Amino acid sequence: MGKVISFFLILITTAFGGDYPEHVSKTLKKIEKDIYGVFGVYEQVSYKNRGFISNAYFVITDEGVVVIDALSTYKLGKELVETIKKVSSKPIKFAVITHYHTDHFYGVGAFKEVGAVAIAHEWADEYVSKESSWNFYEARKKILKDHMDGTKMESTHITIDSGLKINLGKETIVVRQFCKGHTAGDIMVWIPEKKVLFGGDIVFDGRLPFLGSGFSKSWLKCLDKILELKPKYLLPGHGKPMLTEKRILDRVRWTRKYISDLRNTIRKMIEEGRDLDYIRDNINTALIEIDPMYAQVPVFFDVNPVNAYYVYFEIENELIEEGQ
Ligand SMILES: [Zn+2]
Repeated sequence: MGKVISFFLILITTAFGGDYPEHVSKTLKKIEKDIYGVFGVYEQVSYKNRGFISNAYFVITDEGVVVIDALSTYKLGKELVETIKKVSSKPIKFAVITHYHTDHFYGVGAFKEVGAVAIAHEWADEYVSKESSWNFYEARKKILKDHMDGTKMESTHITIDSGLKINLGKETIVVRQFCKGHTAGDIMVWIPEKKVLFGGDIVFDGRLPFLGSGFSKSWLKCLDKILELKPKYLLPGHGKPMLTEKRILDRVRWTRKYISDLRNTIRKMIEEGRDLDYIRDNINTALIEIDPMYAQVPVFFDVNPVNAYYVYFEIENELIEEGQ
């Protein structure tokens, strides 16, 4: 496990943006009537960016507000609460966490304290009970220092195994695990009436997906599910929202291609007898040979070998299961 953690820690600090809002509200954007988002910078966590590297969204209904994701720290969560209050006087009723990665749930305390019911996949309980998660929490405190004040690592009020529906005002909001992808406990939030999908970290616009939890095979099913839903808007956990069907289709297909290229290449290398070190050292060149466009993707050179590290073990297990 120590090796796994150190891989997380060497995850690059490449800047792509570098504009640091002093309050979450500075990034507020209206997506459409009653749906808003706040947008963190496209970077890894640093003291300078205060950990504001992810997005969060909120939906206003007649009877209250539903928040999707809680940002990286208690302080940022509180800023999001303040931001919501500027837009709506309705109470915050629910805070749904798309997955238990630090930049999406560390701020959950700020929503609990204003009376919101916090919801996540049941994997959240497992996550907070793991020693490695606490090591990560300590590491995060070292980077963010005072920005972490008030941040607790905690689970939610409700955990779900497959899904639930929130009926609030006239709105029906579906909270569902469609598949295992980015983590064992990904959930997406879907508003069928409006055809708006909050996708967590399954698809990004212009950034490499992070495959560190080892579910690359079923990730492909998440992508199929998105295509099946045919969302009008796809609102991701990082980076730009995808606001046309064409863009969504393009990004889903691109994500599918990347994951498939990576999986196929690693499989081939294993079958050729290559070891993990070789694969990690050569995976960037191998993928760029397949498609030179990979070299243009921000953070490709740093994240791709880390992805390869995790997918290697996944494919090795698949090969054992296949009896090779
Ligand atoms: Zn994540």
